[in-house]
Amino acid sequence: MKRLVILGGGESGVGTALLGKAKGYEVFVSDKGKIKETYKEVLIHNEIEFEDEQHSESQILNADLVMKSPGIPDKVALVIKIRANQIPVVSEIEFASKYTQAKLVGITGSNGKTTTASLMYHILKQELNVGLAGNIGDSFAKQVMEQAFQNYVLEISSFQLDDIVDFKPKVAVLLNITPDHLDRYDYDFEKYIASKFRIAKNQTKDDYFIYDADDEVISSWLKTHPVQSQLLPFSLKNKIENGAYLEHDHIKITIDNNQIIMPTANLALEGKHNIKNAMAASTVAHLLKIRKQTIRESLENFQGVEHRLEHVLKINKVQYINDSKATNVNATYYALESMDAPTVWIVGGEDKGNDYQELFQFVNEKVKAIICLGVDNEKLMKNFSSMVDVIVETQFMSEAVKIAYKIAEAGDNVLLSPACASFDLFENYEDRGRQFKNAVRNL
Ligand code: ADP
Repeated sequence: MKRLVILGGGESGVGTALLGKAKGYEVFVSDKGKIKETYKEVLIHNEIEFEDEQHSESQILNADLVMKSPGIPDKVALVIKIRANQIPVVSEIEFASKYTQAKLVGITGSNGKTTTASLMYHILKQELNVGLAGNIGDSFAKQVMEQAFQNYVLEISSFQLDDIVDFKPKVAVLLNITPDHLDRYDYDFEKYIASKFRIAKNQTKDDYFIYDADDEVISSWLKTHPVQSQLLPFSLKNKIENGAYLEHDHIKITIDNNQIIMPTANLALEGKHNIKNAMAASTVAHLLKIRKQTIRESLENFQGVEHRLEHVLKINKVQYINDSKATNVNATYYALESMDAPTVWIVGGEDKGNDYQELFQFVNEKVKAIICLGVDNEKLMKNFSSMVDVIVETQFMSEAVKIAYKIAEAGDNVLLSPACASFDLFENYEDRGRQFKNAVRNL
């Protein structure tokens, strides 16, 4: 019996454990932190051995195969030792994809993965037997074992891509590349780019590569590192023969001379970035032969995803918007760009080495007041105090919302789009978004 050791007892770890056991592996799960009770119960119920709050090397270094959860960096001593012992290390999508014949659509990028994957799933599920997995919802491995869908939409982070070997999606989508998570890539942007492009590394000419042709990082990389699959670019700026582009407020997607045209006015999601996300999602749908009418309707009735430019409430004609998932400058850029009214902007948190310059134009144009919400707000103050009349700081969400309420006038927006991680004051971005929504509801 081959021994599969799984590092990390979260959603992907436990899913892999279940699939591994079903496929005849002797499975051992090891987590340096605490494993959640609900996951422990699953492991016990399925008679899978595990440990938490420790890594016992004697139980790990005898593995034939290791599945490393995406949250565990390569630099960890144990991982270095595992590799030194020539034990193959893979990610969950690598492991699980070996056990399914389903058509796989993989989506990666620095921003927009969850939005695009959810939108795409929403369209495809109208007509196809399809699962949504990856960094979203139930683990891919678990779904492969329990549900055996014929198609999967997979949201894939660079960490998952770092540990693939043979993973080969029929359709790969690369939304954009901006610097993020560089601490995991030796602060070398090139390494992060290379990691994102791994999504296409096993593709052949029978597969498809959908990407943002306006993204200069992607375009210039493609010039020197061509992919083997068929290219289907999308663009807001230029006409595209084979792929998607925008013309007179209509999205036009052409694949093999078959064109679908959709007005952007009816899209459920706002903002230029969401036109791009809609292009990516509907290019996939068009490719998989979903009916045009279904694609149009699905784009119109999609409900959106929590914490991404989520409209919370309108109070005294002021719209409150939760974009807590904007944990980097690029995401906030698109949030500010999409504001169509004077905006009170709540920003701040754990700064990941942000360069705020690209926001200056929108702040000058659209932001009437700034509320800094972080432990250390000095950098925000320095960057923005000359641009707005009012800039204040606080370390409490409830206070931030109350201040915003006082400043905002009928017709304004109050936008939480922090451009920073949340860990200085909150558990995570979901916690931050929920606290914002509660505070708004309590006004
Ligand atoms: P991810 O899963 O890649 O983190 P999300 O869909 O969760 O992406 O969105 C994260 C943040 O990025 C949100 O603030 C969202 O409004 C913004 N965003 C969504 N799509 C894009 C895009 N195509 N480009 C830039 N920012 C985007």
